Amino acid sequence: MSYTDNSDAYYRDLCERLSHQLQTTNSRHRQALQDVHRAKVVSALMRKLFRLKSARYSARKLAERVLDAMYGLLSLECGAVYMKSPTQGGYKTLAFMGFPIEESCDLSRKTAMPEFVFADAGKNKPGISRSLGMMTNCRHTIWCFNPATGLALLLGSNHHNTNEAWELSRGDRDMLHSTLELLGNIISEAEAREESSNPLIDAMTGLPNRHMVIEHLERESRQQNRNYALSTVVLYIDIDRFKLINQQHGHVVGDKVIMAITQRLKSVLRPGDLLGRIGVDEFAIIAPGMRVGNDAIFIAERILKSLRQPLRIGAQSFYLAVSIGIAEAAPDSSAIESLRDANLAMFSAKTNGGATFAMYGQEMHQPGPDVLQLESDLRLAIDREELSLYYQPIFSLHSNAVVALEALLRWHHPVRGTLNPPEFMHLADNSEMGLLIGDWVIDKVVRDMNIWASENATNKSISVCINISETQFVQKGFISRLGRKLRDGKIDPQRIRLEISEHTLLDCRMVDKQLLIKLRDMGIKVMLDDFGTAYSSLQRLQSLPIDTLKIDRNFVAKVAMGGQHSALMKAMVSLARNLDKQIVAEGAENSAQLQELKQMGCDYAQGFLLAKPMAASKIGGFLGNQEVAMGR
Ligand code: C2E
Ligand code: MG
Ligand code: MG
Repeated sequence: MSYTDNSDAYYRDLCERLSHQLQTTNSRHRQALQDVHRAKVVSALMRKLFRLKSARYSARKLAERVLDAMYGLLSLECGAVYMKSPTQGGYKTLAFMGFPIEESCDLSRKTAMPEFVFADAGKNKPGISRSLGMMTNCRHTIWCFNPATGLALLLGSNHHNTNEAWELSRGDRDMLHSTLELLGNIISEAEAREESSNPLIDAMTGLPNRHMVIEHLERESRQQNRNYALSTVVLYIDIDRFKLINQQHGHVVGDKVIMAITQRLKSVLRPGDLLGRIGVDEFAIIAPGMRVGNDAIFIAERILKSLRQPLRIGAQSFYLAVSIGIAEAAPDSSAIESLRDANLAMFSAKTNGGATFAMYGQEMHQPGPDVLQLESDLRLAIDREELSLYYQPIFSLHSNAVVALEALLRWHHPVRGTLNPPEFMHLADNSEMGLLIGDWVIDKVVRDMNIWASENATNKSISVCINISETQFVQKGFISRLGRKLRDGKIDPQRIRLEISEHTLLDCRMVDKQLLIKLRDMGIKVMLDDFGTAYSSLQRLQSLPIDTLKIDRNFVAKVAMGGQHSALMKAMVSLARNLDKQIVAEGAENSAQLQELKQMGCDYAQGFLLAKPMAASKIGGFLGNQEVAMGR
């Protein structure tokens, strides 16, 4: 467009352009001034932070000093510094100024938010914590989160006179970010200093130790007395088979496992819950304000679920589980009594096989099994010749011949009568007793096999399955000792099968494949016992030299019910087929089940219907009336 020099349009346009230029210059000028101001603020803050770093203040004092500095530099009306609590759910307030604030603040939902969130308190947007409601004089607030350091800042001002939320420029964000990061580092250093000299903190995990847990529980249950509808609940958590990790991988790995489990446990805490480490592999969670049944079970289930993913320690993956006992901190019980109740419940969960939880019940205190007494009785059981082996035959479903005998341990207790392994083996496992009993079983099998052979030459072909516990199997030198015992007893290794539970072999991954290859080279077959209970991965199942899968009797019990139960069993049988493994169904109790098993193509079965476990002295006579098949 062209203008004559004195046209109105020319002057109007010139005016507009000039005014536009002026505005841009103004805003650029403003921007430049802001940048200069921010740079000054940042350098003043950083100088302050570095001075504080060498001052060795406590975490709270540090936070107060920094907030004080920001207060002046940013012309704030109010502000607060929060720290994500490493031991409790939620955040604790380290310092605040300008408005009353609660001791702790529920910012837990904010963890999923971006690092910096700003909001206009006046508009009361959803997601703004209730503490903002208290800041009546303050229209503009900025929430700043740094998930890496677990630090949060709340800054409030009334200075801007617009009604809009504060707009944070990139420079502002960078400034806040650097401040939070540096402050976070200084505060963690301060906390580490405080913890290492704190007799109530476990030095390794930084969690409250047993003393602090008890003190906290005492305090919580006193407060809870005022609220009858809700209770404080204690969850007692013990890592299943932790001793084996230490034995197999050493204490350094053991410590890393404890740390990794600590992290998983922290992830399930609610604000206000306290997590403590009360023993080497034992933790407690004190959870106030709970409905005992549902709420506590929910936490226990979340813990179990959080451990379904493997723990990665260096290049290794560990599948670990925990046993959890749940007890209410009853108003008339002391903290120690509540902890003991939860501990009893935890033992009950362990006795049920671990990887589960149990609620405390009065009956756990009943005279019943006096665990300590039973344990010391068991130490004497071998010398007093109270142990014996029963043998249960395994049959071929194609030929009905007996293909093997499973050796089952019995303890003839002088007072309690005959006990089966689930009633006492948990006391023996994880200690030298488990290994002594394991050795005794192998020696006894060798003796019995020789006795049957001397009674009848055809008995020389019968195979025996021996149950091997995890402690035994992973013990150094186990295979060479087994080989020696068989050689000394003149037993062909081809006649021996080891039954090792699915959990030991596949799930826990502590088992070295080389052990299984060694066994195969010796001619000893390996059977995967209780198959179906550990949800092991197909890939691992395929990769290990295992000959036979023994399907757990819980699946067999339901096989004749049809529907999804028999579909599951069918799937297991066809899986075994595809992997070229033989299959034994355990616990066949009636002919309907047996019929189903045959139809599905199961190779072998064992169960009360076919033959009950019998004393060694009865086996010779029993085999005399049976067809015995060799080498299966
Ligand atoms: P398992 O290896 O799965 O052994 C099978 C269990 O099922 C035996 O229980 C057996 O008596 C029982 N059983 C067999 N047929 C039936 C049936 O038709 N119905 C029902 N309800 N049960 C049936 P038992 O003898 O009480 O042994 C339990 C577990 O103790 C064994 O389970 C095994 O894991 C362990 N165990 C047994 N002997 C030893 C041993 O010498 N050393 C070790 N470490 N563990 C052993
Ligand atoms: Mg078995
Ligand atoms: Mg079994």
